[in-house]
Amino acid sequence: MSWFDNFLNKVEYIRPCYMIPFLVSVSMCISSLLAPLSGEELTHKFVKPDEKVFTGETMEITSDYVIVIGENASASEKNAAEKLKQYLNEISGMELRIVSDSTEESEKEIIIGKTLREGTSYTIDRANLGDDGVVIKTVGEKIVLSGAEQRGAIYAVYTFLEEYFGCRWFTHDLTVIPKAEKLIIPEVIDYTYVPSIIFRETDWISPAMSNEYKVANKLNDNVYGVISEEYGSGISYAGSFCHTMAYLIDTNLFETEPELFAYGVKTRTRTIDQPCLTNPRTLELAIQGVRKWLSENPGAKIVSVTQNDNQNYCVCENCKKVDKEEGSQAGTMLRFVNAIADDIKEDYPDVLVDTFAYQYTRKPPKITVPRDNVIVRLCSIECKFSTPLDSGVIKENDEFAKDIKKWSELSNNLFIWDYTTNYSHYLAPFADFDVLQANMQFFVENNVIGMYEEGNYTAAESDGEFAELRCYLLAKLMWDPSCDIDRHMYEFCEAYYGSGAQGIIDFINYIDENSGGISVDLEPWWITPIPNRIDIRNGLTIYAPVTSQTTLRADKDDVKKIDAMWQTAKDGAKTEEQLDNVLRSELCWRYWKACARVGEFATKDTDSTIEINKALYDDFVKFGIRRLCEGEGGYMKETPDFTVSPNRWK
Ligand SMILES: [Zn+2]
Repeated sequence: MSWFDNFLNKVEYIRPCYMIPFLVSVSMCISSLLAPLSGEELTHKFVKPDEKVFTGETMEITSDYVIVIGENASASEKNAAEKLKQYLNEISGMELRIVSDSTEESEKEIIIGKTLREGTSYTIDRANLGDDGVVIKTVGEKIVLSGAEQRGAIYAVYTFLEEYFGCRWFTHDLTVIPKAEKLIIPEVIDYTYVPSIIFRETDWISPAMSNEYKVANKLNDNVYGVISEEYGSGISYAGSFCHTMAYLIDTNLFETEPELFAYGVKTRTRTIDQPCLTNPRTLELAIQGVRKWLSENPGAKIVSVTQNDNQNYCVCENCKKVDKEEGSQAGTMLRFVNAIADDIKEDYPDVLVDTFAYQYTRKPPKITVPRDNVIVRLCSIECKFSTPLDSGVIKENDEFAKDIKKWSELSNNLFIWDYTTNYSHYLAPFADFDVLQANMQFFVENNVIGMYEEGNYTAAESDGEFAELRCYLLAKLMWDPSCDIDRHMYEFCEAYYGSGAQGIIDFINYIDENSGGISVDLEPWWITPIPNRIDIRNGLTIYAPVTSQTTLRADKDDVKKIDAMWQTAKDGAKTEEQLDNVLRSELCWRYWKACARVGEFATKDTDSTIEINKALYDDFVKFGIRRLCEGEGGYMKETPDFTVSPNRWK
């Protein structure tokens, strides 16, 4: 049998609509077969970790301990002491006193933050702790919870409660504080941790709802929910967070000064879509705008000078010339941003000017290098999110990997804008869980120091998937990319969903393994030149069609298996909240089945279709879901047509 006959035999595995692109892609498939890959090598399956136990000698915090803070303790150090007192009391019933460092030193002290106790029996070297570094150590019977001046003490307290007493802040309203008769910790602790990622932000639900959630999980931005001083404050942007050109260059000037604006590459006429970056007057106005924002926001650390959210950049003669010299529109952008950074440097030595490497500015320039006070925020929007960025099997990810390597050579302040949901279908399963850690490690290996994990920022009105779980895991990974992700996954799911959590994790493992483009049964090319199954769309995008094979592959038997996983989860829910959490997350599976018309949605009878769709709609309403996708047209109709699939209810 020739390879082509073999190929035809294999074609039955592929759904008809994929036939034509498959034929086009044969050459690509064969080249990928030269290096056979299995899903296992590229993905992470969540496995229940062993129970965590202390080994070695221990010591006990007894009621004669006192909590010591500095006479001039900061608001966050004072709050750190109060929180420690509150939670140790909740755990054990023990009431510890808070005293100042002016009281006589005793052996049994828990010392918070910067105090006069330093310099005698121990020291804290703050030079290398940044704003977030944590120091936890025992000195004889003393326990030191300290670190960087800004957030070290408050972070140390939450780390201490988390690490040694099992306290967890899973969501803004789900905190777990275990009970214990005795407060036992290891006798010797000597822990210092300074995160590589200094700016950590994600915009799912809980970060906007609770300062304590953010601090306990070490999110330190002020973009969605300002962190108060008592929680250590956050990193603020002056003015807006993104796409700021529209604010910096007033579009009302278009009438009188059209040359301030782009001669658009798409429209071939002057347009307010983007500014013209080589016009000196544009620069002058942008500097004025930046200085105004900085003077109005004295505590801000970053100011954003970023392109508008469209690709109609300027191709006037001057801009085109610079673009050509630089081999990228990023060169023109960086010359503009560097000039602003130079202008403000003396007056605002602690402020960084943030710009994008996004879409047409993503490719690094040949000549211009960002100034030391410039942030380059590289955006991964073109990537495929069910496959690690550095796996070497996805073209878009390879290109991104090349760009990040080059940018990391050019920039001291490389930030990432990453994406963690399906913006066309907020309710579709988004199978990125098994690559989150690999990607975070990849970012850090490439000198990334700032992360914005954009999610479904309207999840409060459209969470039918795993908003809170994903948020929690992302926060843990941004703080420590090498953290025990399995442990965090299991702990969260057991607390949030109940004792049937394994059903949820089985579902997550299933979607991770059966989405995207490379989770295929590839045999070595000398056995069969065509893979048994391949998804020719080659990876999960953030706009993937809900019923595409990149979102999820499941045949009739798989649907039954997955239904059973959800049943396990429902059966294991012990409280009403846990059951609600399971039912809410199950909506993504029901949404997928309804759109794919499988399982209970497979009926061809119109009345049955209306009935089953109406039941799904009623549950959407029950769980506060009003929106199905990003954008103004994303809201559900009040009276949708239940004869059609839910993706058409908007
Ligand atoms: Zn121009």
